[in-house]
Amino acid sequence: MKKYIYADNAATTKMDNEVFEKMKVFYTDDFSNPSQPYSFSKNSKAAIREARSIIANCINADFDEIFFTSGGTESDNWAIKGIGDNMKHKGIFISAIEHHAIINSCRDLINNPMISVEYIPVNSEGIVLAETLETILKNYDRVRHLMHQTKLVSVMYANNEIGSVQPIKELAAVAHKYGAFFHTDAVQAVGHILVDVKDCNVDLLSASAHKFNGPKGIGFLYVKKGTDIQSLISGGSQENGMRAGTENVAAIIGMACALKANCDEIDKNQEHLLKLENILLSKLKNGGVDFIRNGHKNHIPGNVSISIKNKEGEMLLHRLDLLGICVSTGSACDSKSVQVSHVIKAINVPSDYSKGTIRISLGKNNTLDDVDYIADGIIKICSEKI
Ligand code: PLP
Repeated sequence: MKKYIYADNAATTKMDNEVFEKMKVFYTDDFSNPSQPYSFSKNSKAAIREARSIIANCINADFDEIFFTSGGTESDNWAIKGIGDNMKHKGIFISAIEHHAIINSCRDLINNPMISVEYIPVNSEGIVLAETLETILKNYDRVRHLMHQTKLVSVMYANNEIGSVQPIKELAAVAHKYGAFFHTDAVQAVGHILVDVKDCNVDLLSASAHKFNGPKGIGFLYVKKGTDIQSLISGGSQENGMRAGTENVAAIIGMACALKANCDEIDKNQEHLLKLENILLSKLKNGGVDFIRNGHKNHIPGNVSISIKNKEGEMLLHRLDLLGICVSTGSACDSKSVQVSHVIKAINVPSDYSKGTIRISLGKNNTLDDVDYIADGIIKICSEKI
């Protein structure tokens, strides 16, 4: 098989071998439905309980605040559509750089006259400032005094395209000051940086296993006790009656195993990734590539978004693909689009650079040789006259 240099870890990650090994037995031997009362289901039931507890510990949540979902998209839809009562007035505030799982969840609601959606701008480093959010909430309350009974602020923990990490604790405090719930899409953060739901005092948090070396199609929504959220998926009484459907047992076990492995090694992985990205950036600079690094100094380690002068991201992606290098342009979920992404637009990257944006997202399995190869590839492509 052709060897690839995989540098698109913000799109998905390679599942750890131990995770796969741990999952296998729940397909082959302990395949029971955990809801059944007979003794054969004891193992799968106990394994789910243990997985829930491991996951809760990793983000400093309580055991019964973790609800399994099919991934980040479902968790985001649930948070946006499930909070409060859609038959009553609701004001939703999202950042301008949210993932489409949030943007399109809001779009689904725009025909509901009881619901309004407002966008919170970011600065040029992709950060939502607490004072910006405060101004928006204050004005909103003044204009719509008491009209909206539920307010929800949703700001992602870390951006998928440029990696900027938001001041979540400060933003949650502002949201609470104005009586709003606070949700964070932490799909890019969980398993990569320390996330402590009690410390940052969020009400809802989305995560997805395939972004932290776990299986695809599984994630969770953290729901702080007492949060007014409705179930979106009707059926059986799984997940405490909040999310129906037979549990994806093996994937849940895999998610817990992957998250624990990443959290146990978080410092080591961060150090490794910051070293790799520094080497990559200085090689590009020394190689004469004219680029801007996007994002903020507080970012997800390994997430390197660069905009190269007078180039096209789409062209760069395909040329790097011919060299066996996997990177992304814009957001991975939108990789067919040649448009400058909403994130790059929101941070105002100058037009002669913005079209040449690529995201190199390094993961814990990347090596120094990978980074050398990627840098050499980009330097070679950029030095060619078109
Ligand atoms: N939110 C963010 C920030 C993401 O990066 C992604 C995936 O790209 C999602 C949500 C969707 O997650 P999933 O692929 O698990 O549905």
